Amino acid sequence: MFREKQFLQLPGPTPVPPRVLRALSEPMINHRGPEFRELLEEVTAGLQWAFQTQNEVIIFPAAGTGGMEAAIVNFISPGEKVLAVSIGVFGNRFAEIAGRFGAVVEKMEFPWGEAANLDQVAERLAADRSGEIKAVLITHNETSTGVFNPIQDLRRKMGHHPALIIVDAVSSLGAIELKTDEWELDVVVVGAQKAFMLPPGLSMVSVSSRAWAAAQKCTNSRYYWDLGSARKYQEKGQTPYTPALPQLTGLRESLRMMKEEGLPRAHARHALMRDMTRRAMRALGLELLAADAAASASLTAVKAPEGVDANRIRRAARENYNVILAGGQQKLDGVIFRVGHLGWVQPLDIVATVAAIEMALLDCGVSVPLGAGVKEAQEVLRQALSGR
Ligand code: PMP
Repeated sequence: MFREKQFLQLPGPTPVPPRVLRALSEPMINHRGPEFRELLEEVTAGLQWAFQTQNEVIIFPAAGTGGMEAAIVNFISPGEKVLAVSIGVFGNRFAEIAGRFGAVVEKMEFPWGEAANLDQVAERLAADRSGEIKAVLITHNETSTGVFNPIQDLRRKMGHHPALIIVDAVSSLGAIELKTDEWELDVVVVGAQKAFMLPPGLSMVSVSSRAWAAAQKCTNSRYYWDLGSARKYQEKGQTPYTPALPQLTGLRESLRMMKEEGLPRAHARHALMRDMTRRAMRALGLELLAADAAASASLTAVKAPEGVDANRIRRAARENYNVILAGGQQKLDGVIFRVGHLGWVQPLDIVATVAAIEMALLDCGVSVPLGAGVKEAQEVLRQALSGR
């Protein structure tokens, strides 16, 4: 099978467009010179556009988890309390990072496959009359379950509580609407390898003025992750340490592509691929982990039929059809497979993916009518086109 024609249907890393691949191979430049300044200015302005914010956006050469660590160590001092809202693996990770750096972590967990009940979160904050809780940590899109949290209402629900809202938007921003300023989100963390269509290795963090004020008082140790230091350098068009130059020229190109499509159209494309996938899987008699109202536009988590290991279905899809699906994590390992539909993916990729899943199910001895899912996916696509 052609390695370069794999259907990489993961919720990250996602396929990288040829335009971006070419941009990744530009010659090196002086990172303390005028060309770099221009590059940094263009990408930071582009990120502000993508994040829908006037806040500074700082770029780290790092995995998304590095950005999450930066979002803790700059704002939360040891001994301070955070409310960590978790609906899966990545919500748990945020709580764990905060704990490692000395925060007193109060975790609010919701069942895997469901969104957080933000009214309960608001109630907890209302009961915190002394303002002991310094920040709410929340995942926008929980990649382990294919569920998104409706964080647009969170600030309003919090009323006058002064806690910072710190958001892991690693697998959402660009695919699912996120309005940093309008929703008053203090810190938003994003990774490169998802909707930004880049190889893994960059993490972007936006910081509100309230969050900068908290950073000045924060006593936690940080050096590489010091956002304040990055901000100072950014003002002169530089980064504190040698930047990941290829990633930044790649980002410049992917931001240009994102602008050409426009955010509303990108969000609609992702929602369409979600609907195609969900209708198709249901037509095959498969159960979905998330209810419709909570279903992510970035990926879909599908339960394997009773008695069938989800990883067998994935293996058949990979070995026989060159389609790469993600597995379940932790307690969902073997129980679900996840279909990524974010980044440089278009509706017809989903038709092919569904076709492969149908055949992989048959290969695993699950009797499904060939074409039943494909037909549904096609119907959803044609319906969307006729509604334009
Ligand atoms: N948060 C979410 C929601 C994610 O999906 C991921 C990556 N799957 C991460 C954080 C961590 O990103 P990374 O693997 O780049 O550290």
